[in-house]
Amino acid sequence: MTNIPSDQHITYQLQYRKCGKPSCSTCKAGQGHGPYWYAYWREGSRLRSGYIGKVHPNAQKQAEAEAARATAKLLTKEYAAASAAH
Ligand SMILES: [Zn+2]
Repeated sequence: MTNIPSDQHITYQLQYRKCGKPSCSTCKAGQGHGPYWYAYWREGSRLRSGYIGKVHPNAQKQAEAEAARATAKLLTKEYAAASAAH
C-alpha cells in the first residue's frame, strides 16, 4: 500500500477504476470498480496518488479515534482501580 504522507495537503477523490481485464463484466458494463477513495498530494513537482478504499479516511479516523477513546477510558478505569488499591 502507498504511504500517504501526513504532513502534506491531501485531496481526496471518489473514483471508479477499470481493472483492465478483458473478461471483466463489471468494467464492460459500466464505469468499472468502485467507487473507491483515492488520495492525491504533491511531492515536489510530481502529483502522487494513493489508494485508500471504500471508506473515507476521515470516517476511518473517526472510528479510530472512538476506539482510542474507548481504550483510554478502559485504561483510566484500570488506573483508578489500581490507585484505589494503594
Ligand atoms: Zn474490472
